[in-house]
Amino acid sequence: MQGRRPTVAEIDLSALAHNFSHIRSRTAGRQVLAVVKADAYGHGAARVAPFLQAQGAELFGVALVEEALELRAAGVTRPILVLGGIYPGQEQQVLVAGLSCTLFCLETARRLNAEAAAAGQICPFHLKLDSGMGRVGVRPEELAGVLDELAGLRSLRMEGFFSHLALADEPGREFNEVQVRRFREALARVRERGFAPGFVHISNSAAIFTRDIPEANLVRPGIALYGGLPAPGLEGTIDLRPVMHLRTRVAALKTVAPGTGISYSHRFSAERPTVVATLPVGYADGYNRLLTNRGEVLVRGRRARVAGTVCMDWIMIDVTDVPGVAVGDEVTLLGSAEGGSISAEEWAEKVGSISYEVFCGIGKRVPRVYL
Ligand code: PLP
Repeated sequence: MQGRRPTVAEIDLSALAHNFSHIRSRTAGRQVLAVVKADAYGHGAARVAPFLQAQGAELFGVALVEEALELRAAGVTRPILVLGGIYPGQEQQVLVAGLSCTLFCLETARRLNAEAAAAGQICPFHLKLDSGMGRVGVRPEELAGVLDELAGLRSLRMEGFFSHLALADEPGREFNEVQVRRFREALARVRERGFAPGFVHISNSAAIFTRDIPEANLVRPGIALYGGLPAPGLEGTIDLRPVMHLRTRVAALKTVAPGTGISYSHRFSAERPTVVATLPVGYADGYNRLLTNRGEVLVRGRRARVAGTVCMDWIMIDVTDVPGVAVGDEVTLLGSAEGGSISAEEWAEKVGSISYEVFCGIGKRVPRVYL
């Protein structure tokens, strides 16, 4: 086998299977649309989606038609919902690949209907309601007019009706109830107008674990599949395991005298004789520069801190208090190892972000290794 830089993102498929079955156990017979957009939140959609299909995921959700085509090429045969809608010129791809589209504007619906009619096909779509996210979706006051026109587009079929909660990760906030109420009212109007969407859905991961919405028969987990904490405070009430473990190995080691500066701008200066290990990972791999002097890693069962500025391809860590460190030692930057774990939430908090961005940010040049 060819050698390579030892920086890898291990993807633990048994943890993914565990998380999927935990979600199943908490969703009372509802079908699962596995959200695998953004390359399965950085975990590699071409491996993750077929694996989840084998675990029984009924549908898949992606943001882009391009992502959906990648899933088809990887062997996903189940329905794929393009959550982000489609752009002019993508209609043929949608029809040929048998994708389900999110519709939130009539221009797209008309174009898709015309192309489907020309191809002699009926194209399934999920109508998206903007119940309060303020992003995309038909607003409640527009719904009646949109339904009237959709009823005349005979080459389209409403397969689903859905919405998205803006505050699902703050389950105590009253606005969640407002959104659910608008969703219910809109669903009633959809049915009164003669549509019979087979899939009704609104819950992302946080909502799955914090509220029951009886009229929904499908859930849309993303972050929970990958073991991220869907909402603060859920620790101990859910059973999810981290799927991604970012690891590397010590590339160089030196002992420096007090006063020695390390890395760009010498933002770290040794206060004592200090053992510094250099690791072949940097911000080009997704190791955020805000982790300068703040990030922590696991090595030989102990925590060690980043010493100095995160570079594009390297970081240095202070291993003075970790006995016996040697070149070639394995280091865990994210995920678990002997001595504990570095959660995506811990990392995210240090860089003012969320676990989602940590996962999505792990760079393309970091090979995903499936275990
Ligand atoms: N549904 C939609 C429309 C989304 O945009 C997303 C993710 O952003 C999800 C579901 C999955 O959300 P989560 O990862 O919080 O479960």
